[in-house]
Amino acid sequence: MATFERGPIPGARGGRYGAARTFPIIEIFGPVLQGEGRMIGAQTLFVRTGYCDYRCAWCDTLYAVEPEQVQAGAEWLTVDEIVARLDALSRHTPWVTLSGGNPAIHDLGALVARLHADGRKVAVETQGAVFRPWIADCDVVTVSPKPPSSGMKTDYAKLDRFAALPQANLKVVVFDEADYQYARTIHLRYPTVPFSLQVGATTGEDDTAALLRKLDWLAQRAMGDAAMGSALVLPQLHTLMYGSQRGV
Ligand code: SF4
Repeated sequence: MATFERGPIPGARGGRYGAARTFPIIEIFGPVLQGEGRMIGAQTLFVRTGYCDYRCAWCDTLYAVEPEQVQAGAEWLTVDEIVARLDALSRHTPWVTLSGGNPAIHDLGALVARLHADGRKVAVETQGAVFRPWIADCDVVTVSPKPPSSGMKTDYAKLDRFAALPQANLKVVVFDEADYQYARTIHLRYPTVPFSLQVGATTGEDDTAALLRKLDWLAQRAMGDAAMGSALVLPQLHTLMYGSQRGV
């Protein structure tokens, strides 16, 4: 796997080891309502890390993915600095969501432990291609394997590892019928894992009316499919509320 470091120690993903170890942070924001998956509507702060091992055709966070953009936009912060930024935003918001990019490519175990010690609950969002032990320490693990429209291929052996976690939930973004069939395959492979279908939104193109039409199509598709009876059908709440701007 590629490494994602800027610091002087080879192999140190996210910078230096020890107390001064740093991580590429694109943005820390909130409190906002979680807009996706099983935690939709939950009050949370967000920490968005830089870099991703995927390149989805419709990625809406390329500023946290493309190396040039990450190098230009990331701040390299220690755990203490990340926590200080979160505390400045809100000390009482219960959840901190680790997102990206793909946060799983970084070793965020010390951050998760620190947030727990501070009384926060931690959720992580990842596409399920890289597993690290700290992920099992998170309170909620939202795994979003990518459908055919993304141009990415699913490694099911890796996804199996995530799906075995008791706190895992699966979410598949659906843009078209091929994506829906992929979502069905995922749900049938992991029938006991809480599952969400989410409307795919094209950044800068879909207005509210278009998103609601897509939501209606997806709802009708799922409600007419006995295999999908337990699936949640969700919009991207933050896209409906705020459009595709950053920091929401
Ligand atoms: S996995 Fe997520 S962050 Fe990475 S390229 Fe795909 S949509 Fe973007």
